[in-house]
Amino acid sequence: MIGLKKVEGGIAVKGKVIPVYGEYDVVVAGGGVAGTAAAMAAGKRGWKTLIVEATSALGGLATMGLVNIPLDFVSGLGFEMFDELEKMNAIWHRNTDPEKHKLVLDRMLLKYNCDILLVTQVVDSIVEDKTIMGIVIQTKTGQKAVLAKRVIDCSGDSDAAYYAGEEMMQGRQSDGMSQSCSLEFILGSTDWDKYLASELKKNDPKWMETIKRGIAAGDLPFEVDNHLNWITHLPGRPQHCGKDEVSICFVHSRNCYPSDNRDLTRMYIEGREQVDFLTSFIKKNIPGFESCYLSQTGSLLGVRESRRIVGEYILTGYDLATLRKFDDVICISSHGYDVHNFEGPGNIKWAEMEINGQKEYVICNPMGFGTTTPPPNEKRIVNIKGQTAENAEFEPNGYYDIPYRALVTKNIDNLLAAGRNLSSDVNAQSGARLVMACFTMGEAAGTAAAISLTENITPRRVDRKKLQKELIANEVNLGQKFRQIPGLEAGAENFDDRYSNPELNRKKHVTIVQED
Ligand SMILES: Cc1cc2nc3c(=O)[nH]c(=O)nc-3n(C[C@H](O)[C@H](O)[C@H](O)COP(=O)(O)OP(=O)(O)OC[C@H]3O[C@@H](n4cnc5c(N)ncnc54)[C@H](O)[C@@H]3O)c2cc1C
Repeated sequence: MIGLKKVEGGIAVKGKVIPVYGEYDVVVAGGGVAGTAAAMAAGKRGWKTLIVEATSALGGLATMGLVNIPLDFVSGLGFEMFDELEKMNAIWHRNTDPEKHKLVLDRMLLKYNCDILLVTQVVDSIVEDKTIMGIVIQTKTGQKAVLAKRVIDCSGDSDAAYYAGEEMMQGRQSDGMSQSCSLEFILGSTDWDKYLASELKKNDPKWMETIKRGIAAGDLPFEVDNHLNWITHLPGRPQHCGKDEVSICFVHSRNCYPSDNRDLTRMYIEGREQVDFLTSFIKKNIPGFESCYLSQTGSLLGVRESRRIVGEYILTGYDLATLRKFDDVICISSHGYDVHNFEGPGNIKWAEMEINGQKEYVICNPMGFGTTTPPPNEKRIVNIKGQTAENAEFEPNGYYDIPYRALVTKNIDNLLAAGRNLSSDVNAQSGARLVMACFTMGEAAGTAAAISLTENITPRRVDRKKLQKELIANEVNLGQKFRQIPGLEAGAENFDDRYSNPELNRKKHVTIVQED
């Protein structure tokens, strides 16, 4: 953290002058889906906005990380993003082409008059009297200061908030270890039709038996995971000709500390080694992949969770299990727990909590029964009502709210956060981190920043109802179709949930391909 001491030619830091690169109304740190939506929302409302991204493209994990499955509710600016992807033949069944997705985001940001700085890292924050005044960026010509009236931290690792001295959480409570990180990869020259029609796809869709056999036969040196996380066909590329491209989530590092550069380096290197032997394993054991070759690995490591802000409210696993609704809702999600194991194979779709004085292992929705790690001592899995698989009842199309307060940092003014670094415990973050939820949180943060500028108040003081009305007016899904949001007039039931509502004709977008 550095203070703001304006001198001729820039700002003074320990006897050195850092030149001022520019002055903005809104600066967004990190250009993943949360950051791009935040910047668009602010730019769209006429505020001078800059987005700063460390890598060479926008989209973060959804593009550079090859996570080409934007799941959860689509709404607001997300409609426009999906429409643009569709025009480019870059989306099918919630599977996207990450290359075209980068271009779509470039164009949308430029359309909303946002300035974009790629290959530029945020390295510090400028703070004066508990108010963030801007950030410091590393450029090819040295460090520069960017002054800002509002900063939105969408770095995934809460970098700007951390540099500002804001309170942080990281990983699990006991030792700060983050859940497993994964390096995505794309295989080319596959016969997707053959794979889909295979006995393996029918009888062992998550490759669980195939993996066991591979280990026994020595095709796999160790159990990287006990199941295939997901596999998606890349839309708009060769099809039905044996030259399809598929994106795969099957490479995992454990014991992860993703805010430590040494550990990040370790994970990239071991990830590429895993891709090498997994490609051979897949080629030998999976029908349709006999001629495949490695096309690319993600240029951004799949970090699911790392440093998170401590906001005015910390979203909890209990909130997810109870499908909690908040008066200051700014985003909804239907995704339950999905904690990828910290130290070994498998993922955990339950959370330990007390129900009626008894320790239980609770899931959020029926997908929780698909956990690949059972509770300790094979204890039973129940829903929040304590019901087991035989009689468990879940609310149809259940969803929970993400409150605005989880985006508002606790101590520093004029600073918001959005995306996977939201204020949440590990279980809540493991659910609330899907691509479209992060996108919507970003849109909400950008909209809140804009309102706070118009009214000349800190984002903390933005009226929740005003923010919600503005979001709803811009087609953001706050669940207004399904329930009455306290304090808002009725009448939002006409909301056209066109990418998620199965009754509407764009039904194809509901299909989810092996998500976890
Ligand atoms: C392996 C894996 C599989 C997943 N599977 C799915 C799935 O199937 N479906 C789904 O919907 N979601 C999935 N997710 C979750 C989802 O991809 C992410 O949670 C979401 O994309 C996060 O978006 P974000 O914008 O918050 O963060 P990111 O995408 O992480 O964006 C942060 C951006 O900030 C940049 N940045 C970081 N630090 C700095 C800095 N100091 N200065 C400048 N820039 C910086 C980064 O380069 C990055 O571009 C998965 C995640 C992982 C890791």
